[in-house]
This record gives sequence, structure tokens and C-alpha cells, in this order.
Amino acid sequence: MPEYKNWFEVKKVKDYLYCIRENLEKVDPRYYTHYTNIFLLIGSEKALLIDTGSGVEPLKPVIESIIDKQELIVVNTHGHFDHIGCNSEFDKVFIHKIEASFISNPVNVSNLKDSPEEIAKNYESKNYIIEPPNSVIPIDEEHTFDLGDFEIKVIHTPGHSPGSISLLTSRGDLFPGDLAHYGSLFLPHKKRFGTVLESLSKLIDLLNKGDAKEVYPAHGRFPVGKDLLEEEYKGIKNIEKLWDQKQKDRFLRSWIIKDENFKYIISRF
Ligand SMILES: [Zn+2]
Repeated sequence: MPEYKNWFEVKKVKDYLYCIRENLEKVDPRYYTHYTNIFLLIGSEKALLIDTGSGVEPLKPVIESIIDKQELIVVNTHGHFDHIGCNSEFDKVFIHKIEASFISNPVNVSNLKDSPEEIAKNYESKNYIIEPPNSVIPIDEEHTFDLGDFEIKVIHTPGHSPGSISLLTSRGDLFPGDLAHYGSLFLPHKKRFGTVLESLSKLIDLLNKGDAKEVYPAHGRFPVGKDLLEEEYKGIKNIEKLWDQKQKDRFLRSWIIKDENFKYIISRF
């Protein structure tokens, strides 16, 4: 049995939607993140893969075992290592224009050298480098992918990172990447919280209008609804009041603050 079967967990969510899940905590628990959700949308003509995981195990064989004849499009929601790890297995990867040059170069993950998890040693043979794909295609707000029987629209939702995007299908499935999910939320420096709040409002509007119906975050449980976005919005607004409780995390170079719904990992820089 190929090794990936032991590593990736494949779940058919809907006729046209699969989740390929990996446990990031088993790559390095210092990120306080259990599941990373890699989503695969299957249209009548094309399939679209949202993110490529941590790179600790090959992803392409898993994708090839699911898709049939469709041409595959690969998109990164943003350039962090846990979303771009298997990019080099694919010829072409789409990403927001702000993060295109970052993923066009080798990405150093030598901070994973001290991971207590055995599987992190899989990076050793790659010298703790995530290699880029052959080509990176920059995209922006309103870019649309046509999969045949439905479409996917790009929404620029900066905050978690400057080029973070969300993806919305014409069937109402919303993929916010790392902008919104339960569990440990990685936030920018608090002076940039306004950007996160604006992006959350943008997505709340889509749910209010009915353009989006279900939310499929890149980490944690799914599907979730508008509650997640509203709780996160309120939670971030309330962080200032909890500021005295902050604890320093040296590995993540962040402050950590918790409330009843989230663990906020706030960049110190
Ligand atoms: Zn992530």
C-alpha cells in the first residue's frame, strides 16, 4: 500500500468536493494546528486543487487517484509552508500576485529541523527546502476558474498574509484559506488587525447575500457557517481587552492569547 494512504485522509464531502486532510501537529506540534484541509473540486471539464499541504509526503498520487480525465488547476490560498509544500509536484500553480515571487523561489523550512516528530525528517533529503513549481501564475481579485459545470471566483482577503485569497464556487461553497477557521488563528501584528476585519466583513457580506452558503476553512472542522466569521470578528475586536494575558511564543515569534473560541497567535513583528 502506498505510504500516502497512511498519511493523508481522503474524504468525499460532496459529489464534486473532496477533502484531503493531513495532521500538521504530526509534522510539528509547535504550530498548534491539528488538521490542514486540502480541498479538491471536480468539475465536468477541469478539477481545481486548493493548496498542496506541508510537503512531508507526496500529494500528487493521491490527487491522481481521485480525478478522472479532468485537467487539473492548482491554486495556493497563500504562500505559507503548510499550503505550498507539494507545489513542485505540479507544473503550474496560481497564487495572488503579491505572493507570486515568494513561491517562485525555494522556501526554507529549516525551522522544522527541531521538530520532535519523526516524519519531519522527510524534509532532510530536500535540505529543508520547498522547491517551486515550474511556473507560477499571478492572479488577483475577480479572477475566475471555469471548471465546466461551475465556476470559482477569487476574492482577495488579506490579513493572515498580504496575498491571502478566498475562493467561492458558483454553488455557494466558500474557501477562506487561513483567514477564518476554528482552533489556532495566526494573525498579523495588531496594527494590521483592521485588514483582517475588513476581509472578514467581505466574506460575511457574501454569506448575507446568499452568494456563499457553506464555509470550508483550510484548518480545523468544516463545513462551518457565518457563526465562525462573526465569532472571529468579535474575538479579534476584543483582543485588546485581553492584551494583559498575552504569552510570548519564541518559536512562532508571536504573542498568544486565548478566548472561548480561538487561540490567537499574533505576530510580534
Ligand atoms: Zn495554514
